[in-house]
Amino acid sequence: MTILNGKATSAQIREELHKEVEDRKSKGLKIPHLAAVLVGNDGASLTYVNSKVKNCEKVGFGSSLIQMDESATEEELLSTVHDLNTNPDIDGFIVQLPLPKHIDEQKVLEAIDPKKDVDGFHPENFGRMALGLDTFVPATPNGIMEMLKRYEVPTEGKHCVVIGRSHIVGMPMSILLAQNTNPGNCTVTITHSRTKNLVELCQSADILVVALGKAEFVTGDMVKEGATVIDVGITRLPSDKTKSGFKLYGDVHFESVAPKCSFITPVPGGVGPMTIASLMMHTMISARRKD
Ligand code: NAD
Repeated sequence: MTILNGKATSAQIREELHKEVEDRKSKGLKIPHLAAVLVGNDGASLTYVNSKVKNCEKVGFGSSLIQMDESATEEELLSTVHDLNTNPDIDGFIVQLPLPKHIDEQKVLEAIDPKKDVDGFHPENFGRMALGLDTFVPATPNGIMEMLKRYEVPTEGKHCVVIGRSHIVGMPMSILLAQNTNPGNCTVTITHSRTKNLVELCQSADILVVALGKAEFVTGDMVKEGATVIDVGITRLPSDKTKSGFKLYGDVHFESVAPKCSFITPVPGGVGPMTIASLMMHTMISARRKD
């Protein structure tokens, strides 16, 4: 069994990006700059955004965190998005989700310039991805594909079962793995909360991508011998055993599933760091376009 170590792979990607930043500096080219917008004070969102900013600093990117009050209006947020769209120093930016209920999330995502949409959530980018065109693929699926590629996980002809059909993980994962690419060329089954025979489908999966957001949902008895299991879930549950007062759980019960796998991602240290690596890779691509 091989652990798909997202922490180590993302460190390697940071190293590659750092080298490129140094090279760009020596040539007088633009240093990539990633901005993040956070509305409100949600603890988990703040942790994610801070981690994105810190990672940028590690590779030598410029980074900005724009924090807006929970009570910020949709108009104020759209105005911030407009400023970032038109600021030539910003190569890419993200608006951290979820947004407060009084703001129309889709309207905000659609206001982002697709060329700076490093999260890959804009409908134009999603459409281009579905057509197999050059684009910003949603950050988490992009990170998973990068990890499959770097670990040379065999995918061609495999049966892949994706649990979850969200626009940011499940749906794009199912599209990417079905495409005529490497990694890709899978026969994909996408499942969701109304799927009737989920256990049987999981048991038939050579590759199982789990993104439903329920702690330790997939257990050993649901997984085929030799499967590859990608655990996207992150659930923060209170814990008196950690300093932070929280413990992170994946959607996969690692102890019972891992012994049956050829490849598996841990939580934490699997898909999460690769999502951040994707944002930085995309920001670099955006900066290169200006050369
Ligand atoms: P979501 O809530 O938008 O979607 C969940 C999906 O799971 C839905 O399509 C739903 O139909 C399906 N589902 C729910 N219960 C089910 C069941 N019993 N059986 C089968 N399908 C079921 O979730 P999301 O935004 O895709 O996120 C999923 C998980 O991944 C969450 O824990 C989230 O925190 C995590 N996540 C992690 C990263 C990362 O970087 N590691 C990025 C994005 C999301």
